[in-house]
Amino acid sequence: MGQTAVIIGAGPAGLTAALELLKKSDIHPIILEQSDFIGGISATMNHAGNRMDMGGHRFFSKSDVVMNWWKEILPLQGSPSLDDMLFERELELSAEADAPDPNQTDKVMLSRPRVSRIYYLKSFFDYPVTLNFKTIRNLGFVKMMKCGFSYLKSIIHKRPEKSLEDFFINRFGQELYETFFKDYTEKLWGVNCSDIAADWGAQRVKGLSILKVLMNILKIGKKETSLIEQFWYPKFGPGQLWEEVARQIQEKGGEIHLNTKVLKINREGSRIISVETGDNQVIPCDYVLSTMPVKELINDLNGVPEDVQKVAEGLMYRDFRTAGLLLKEMKLGYTLHESILNGMPKDTWIYIQEKGVRLGRVQLFNNWSPYLVKDYKNTVWIGLEYFCNEADDLWQMSDGEFTQMAISEAAKIGLIDKDAVLDSVSFKVPKAYPAYFGTYDKFNTIREFLDIFENLFVMGRNGMHRYNNMDHSVLSAMAVVQEIIAPTHDRTAIWNVNAEQEYHEKK
Ligand SMILES: Cc1cc2nc3c(=O)[nH]c(=O)nc-3n(C[C@H](O)[C@H](O)[C@H](O)COP(=O)(O)OP(=O)(O)OC[C@H]3O[C@@H](n4cnc5c(N)ncnc54)[C@H](O)[C@@H]3O)c2cc1C
Repeated sequence: MGQTAVIIGAGPAGLTAALELLKKSDIHPIILEQSDFIGGISATMNHAGNRMDMGGHRFFSKSDVVMNWWKEILPLQGSPSLDDMLFERELELSAEADAPDPNQTDKVMLSRPRVSRIYYLKSFFDYPVTLNFKTIRNLGFVKMMKCGFSYLKSIIHKRPEKSLEDFFINRFGQELYETFFKDYTEKLWGVNCSDIAADWGAQRVKGLSILKVLMNILKIGKKETSLIEQFWYPKFGPGQLWEEVARQIQEKGGEIHLNTKVLKINREGSRIISVETGDNQVIPCDYVLSTMPVKELINDLNGVPEDVQKVAEGLMYRDFRTAGLLLKEMKLGYTLHESILNGMPKDTWIYIQEKGVRLGRVQLFNNWSPYLVKDYKNTVWIGLEYFCNEADDLWQMSDGEFTQMAISEAAKIGLIDKDAVLDSVSFKVPKAYPAYFGTYDKFNTIREFLDIFENLFVMGRNGMHRYNNMDHSVLSAMAVVQEIIAPTHDRTAIWNVNAEQEYHEKK
């Protein structure tokens, strides 16, 4: 009989690993997924014909391998599409120009323009912040001068980079940090920036600095990932691509079991022999590839040394709640340059920096893909995003209380009129963000313990406790499959995914 790989989780990493195993080996993949849907955090939910992401999901990667892999699953539509849909004239033109194969029209990715700005003092600021007339007008001359001087100070005096706060101040100066980064980042993580490891900045903000922003404007040098202006997006949201991967897995003979939670992982020495599920199945296996939160994986294993258990128990997460609102229109200005349709600005998403609200970010799904919205011409479909902890009041609110609170906050800061709300829905995502605080700085203890297992591999975002985008999860799954097919008995290549040089130097 052939070999079997149990894969825990039907998110991007689990699905990628299954399809790669089917393409490159005779190993039979069995995916066990606790929820009743495909895609993990990158799923797309459908509420009465309106589709939404759990946070908008850009398909973008520095890795051509990943971009090509995605393109093989869903080819890129021939021409830009949002404007085509919104401006009838252009729709006609593009339909003639390079319309995709009519039989495949729905199975495509769109190329999308990224527009994301910061909403602060009821005004829009460019993201990243640019030094232009609009910024000076919105911030005021005195504040602007303060920003300038504190930035100059940050060039002369560099702080030792012990925390995310040091990381930001070294790159932007105290005043800009306090104005544009501090509140949002603290909303996101629920702790002070001074308590977050600088690693998070190194991974997410990468080489971004005022100098790089200026070079970017002047088109000098290599672009920073955070500034990329185009991204791909499946016509019906990220879940469409992952559901297509799932279809291909099953077509090739792989198994996917939804509503099947892994509760126990049985070992004999350094080998995993089987996994046990919530419905009392014991599934023998030759390999286990896990994308479940590593904290829970350690808990489900027996014979874990005390120090490893302690570090695992101390790993922390940030959870996520989002309210989808269907609106007649948005309240924001209907000016020629700002707005296209239904009072809606051109942004794909907006960072909320306003004080006095807990709202963190707003997604404008019409701008991600008009195909997400049942009646894109007459309604606006937005996602109001909140970062929280599973135990806190925000998480504990009923769906009704939560959406009411979200509506009130959006109205309070002038984004919407309460009367414009036609429908609402809410979703929860536990452990949406693996945190770079708690016992994260001792994570190597867990890594060294896991590396002793010859047939257990962790991959993906919560699997490796890494702040991964989808591409990193895909790459980690590919690296795991490569190690299974051609063993080197060295996991470095797997752990190195999304651990850029800057990160290593600090370690
Ligand atoms: C708000 C937000 C916005 C984002 N935006 C982007 C973006 O624009 N671009 C981008 O590339 N990435 C984005 N991401 C990141 C992206 O969502 C993740 O990188 C990706 O989903 C991680 O894939 P994964 O397979 O590693 O993990 P997950 O998506 O977390 O999948 C893991 C799966 O394992 C399942 N599971 C867990 N425990 C068990 C168990 N015991 N038994 C069985 N199944 C289990 C879970 O239910 C889940 O389905 C965003 C994330 C968030 C939270």
